[in-house]
Amino acid sequence: MFKSIYPYSGEVVAEYEEDAAPLQKVEKAHQVFSTWKNKSLAERQQLIVRFAEVLEYRKLEYAKIISLEMGKLYNEALAEVEKCAITTRYYAEHAPEYIQPLVMQSSFPRAYTSFEPMGTILAIMPWNFPFWQALRCAVPNLLLGNTVVLKHASNVMGSALKMQEAFLEAGFPDGAFQALFLSSDKVEQIIADPRIKGVTLTGSGPAGSSVASLAGKYLKKSVLELGGSDPFVVLKDANIQLAAETAVKSRFQNAGQTCIAAKRWIVEEDIYDEFKELTLNHVSKLKLGDPFDTQTTLAPVSREDLAISIEKETKKLIADGAKALLPTERQGCLLSPTILEITRSHSAYYKEELFGPVGFLLKAKNTTEAIEIANETPFGLGASLWAQNMEQAAGLMRQIQAGSVYLNSMVKSEGALPFGGIGESGYGRELGKYGIQEFANVKTYAIQ
Ligand code: NDP
Repeated sequence: MFKSIYPYSGEVVAEYEEDAAPLQKVEKAHQVFSTWKNKSLAERQQLIVRFAEVLEYRKLEYAKIISLEMGKLYNEALAEVEKCAITTRYYAEHAPEYIQPLVMQSSFPRAYTSFEPMGTILAIMPWNFPFWQALRCAVPNLLLGNTVVLKHASNVMGSALKMQEAFLEAGFPDGAFQALFLSSDKVEQIIADPRIKGVTLTGSGPAGSSVASLAGKYLKKSVLELGGSDPFVVLKDANIQLAAETAVKSRFQNAGQTCIAAKRWIVEEDIYDEFKELTLNHVSKLKLGDPFDTQTTLAPVSREDLAISIEKETKKLIADGAKALLPTERQGCLLSPTILEITRSHSAYYKEELFGPVGFLLKAKNTTEAIEIANETPFGLGASLWAQNMEQAAGLMRQIQAGSVYLNSMVKSEGALPFGGIGESGYGRELGKYGIQEFANVKTYAIQ
């Protein structure tokens, strides 16, 4: 049985039984693929636009299930569904450009490359953005002509079911997108199945490593979007007020459970005290509580086991010498916002992902040291740099090792921008042109 538990109250929202025969769903997806791949792109686009309409029309219902299952603020859940609809429309509009065949200059009189579907893709997705994470993968793949089976996180199976229903309501063939009710220890049989042509996972390093090993064992293409310890570097010439406000927003939205949250605020010495005061001021205004109360600005953490482990981790860090500007207090899944002043001697703590409402403040002697600290992690997902001198900033952006660097903005995903990491943050890309091409057979036609 899978249980959805409302983190705020601990009440069980729903229970779902595990699939007795998950390979039947794989077979159904495979059958649908044989006709789905032959539909014209225009037909697929039409259905995708209808899917966006369903998301828009049912957004209140979907936001409610998201909030109930993983505790996100209802307003943030609504924004998540709206963003899914916007991105769905974006892909419908841009797919023709992104997957149009490309003429190649070669020794052949005529040669071109086309982007063709591979088959059924297994998507293993996390609970932190239950609709967004799943749909940013499913929408481009369905447009390309692939079919998708989703193994969602065990605590958000209701969201998975709602997405499956939404695709059916939009007119997609039954089987184009299906939710698997499957525990993670049974994933191997799905990856091993010859009808599965690729696997993508968003989640933790250990889950990614396990799935990548299986993908290697069965020779399946894989994409991994894993965690991060994203730096948020503030130089002395930055707009400090805006940087401080943005740092707090980036770290504490979604209760800090965002892969691209600004997890380490690395601030140049000259402005450190001012930045600290400003951020503390913003954090002290956060209101922790009921996700459905519009006054609440900080949500509970999504599962009690995760809240307990975050609390333990921060206590350990404090015992190791970190200064608690705001210490962690926990009641069930409710974790108070925490700010810890740390130094490079605590670098072991930012070599792991801390997935909750905890901000790390680090002082850097100068710009060189700020960039060194930024890169002092095995991750490389996103990074945010705050500076006014554009020439200097351009050079520093190139020095930061990450899948993306944002200047004077928090890191955020959107349809047009390729998204993904390097190092222990994973490989492959989602969104944009590269997202829709990941599970394509890039097929060469050479004609003599
Ligand atoms: P996991 O990485 O364990 O879960 C993410 C998804 O992977 C879920 O669908 C999960 O299924 C599945 N999964 C887990 N282990 C395996 C496996 N061995 N083989 C196949 N699938 C697997 O995240 P948790 O929920 O346990 O959270 C733990 C930590 O992971 C967080 O504290 C955070 O650091 C990180 N995380 C990072 C995310 C990100 O976006 N970067 C998102 C979520 C978590 P099931 O739920 O059934 O176990």
